[in-house]
Amino acid sequence: MKTYQRLGMMGGTFDPIHYGHLVAAEEARCQLELEKVIFIPAGRPPHKTKREISAARHRLNITRLAVASNPFFRVSDVEIMKPGPSYTIDTVQIFKEKFPGAELFFITGADAVLEILSWKRVEELLRLCYFVAATRPGYQLDELSKNIPGFPINGKKRIITMEVPALAISSTDLRRRVREGRPIKYLVPEAVEAYILNNNLYRTPTLTLPPQRGRGKSS
Ligand code: ATP
Ligand code: MG
Repeated sequence: MKTYQRLGMMGGTFDPIHYGHLVAAEEARCQLELEKVIFIPAGRPPHKTKREISAARHRLNITRLAVASNPFFRVSDVEIMKPGPSYTIDTVQIFKEKFPGAELFFITGADAVLEILSWKRVEELLRLCYFVAATRPGYQLDELSKNIPGFPINGKKRIITMEVPALAISSTDLRRRVREGRPIKYLVPEAVEAYILNNNLYRTPTLTLPPQRGRGKSS
């Protein structure tokens, strides 16, 4: 297997993947000189139990379509193939074993990094990988750390902030647009738009499920 020194990881529900994700990943790749960025669609995300998520095969297919034109992007199905919810720390550990010696850079939006920093095993996670937080212009790590009471001591060294221009795009808004018959053109790659339309994704209102009990975050 090819060995890597600097690898990007981008986890997400990708329901659907959009240009916000792709721009953030490409920006991180260039700024941090990453050899590859691996997109990892989530199986059953622990934090998204309130709505029905599209079938894993659809999310995997659109992620593959979205990254196909970038030779530096890859897709991993590790989380999708695993039964039950996946935790970031477990996935990062799998990548550490699979790519020994590689520095790992986990790319997220500023919203997700705030959530990650509130997890229990955050110190361990920060030892295993760097976090790259896509932020709005002018929104720096100091702003992020102010919002976290127990900000980890090694946090500042391991969290890299990066400004990206396409932050206003979200999957939630895209799903709503499809449901309401509004355009998603120019917000997602053309192949993703075609796949969504051909497979009738997001046409019906998403179901709200009752919150799941007794399953706290382990990471
Ligand atoms: P949803 O609206 O369903 O939460 P989303 O657009 O936030 O979807 P996710 O799959 O939840 O997409 O996000 C995966 C990762 O991409 C997260 O780390 C998230 O913070 C980040 N992300 C989402 N949208 C953007 C964006 N426009 N720019 C940069 N990063 C983003
Ligand atoms: Mg999100």
